[in-house]
Amino acid sequence: MSVSGTGTYEPGNIFARILRGEIPCNKVFENDYVFAFHDISPKAPVHVLIIPKKPYVSFIDFSKTASAEEIAAIMQATGHIAASLDLEEGGYRVITNAGHNAGQEVPHFHLHLMGGKALPAFPG
Ligand code: 5GP
Repeated sequence: MSVSGTGTYEPGNIFARILRGEIPCNKVFENDYVFAFHDISPKAPVHVLIIPKKPYVSFIDFSKTASAEEIAAIMQATGHIAASLDLEEGGYRVITNAGHNAGQEVPHFHLHLMGGKALPAFPG
């Protein structure tokens, strides 16, 4: 099921529940602004989800509403995680799905960090 790209934040979504500790996850990183964990259904040998701790639905919501510190923090955390998981030499991909057309399933803004193999050509 995909979601619309805008709208009110739904506090029952799965990532909100992970942040509240209601659902277990395999954590790889955490600081004041950012939380990251392995995807439950990895599409690559390394597939990490990187999320802000505050409730944003999508990229536009995050970019419009988050503080400069939060925006910097998620970028810095993503680079840190990629390096710490030894992805720099082989290469990696960072994407976000927003809304129905991109197939966003979880309505809490997140970045996918994927690597560890040659990734398929980027879809057009
Ligand atoms: P989206 O399609 O919204 O961009 O990506 C959502 C991602 O969340 C998917 O890759 C999916 O496998 C992952 N996911 C869904 N539920 C869970 C969960 O309970 N735990 C973890 N670790 N990942 C999840």
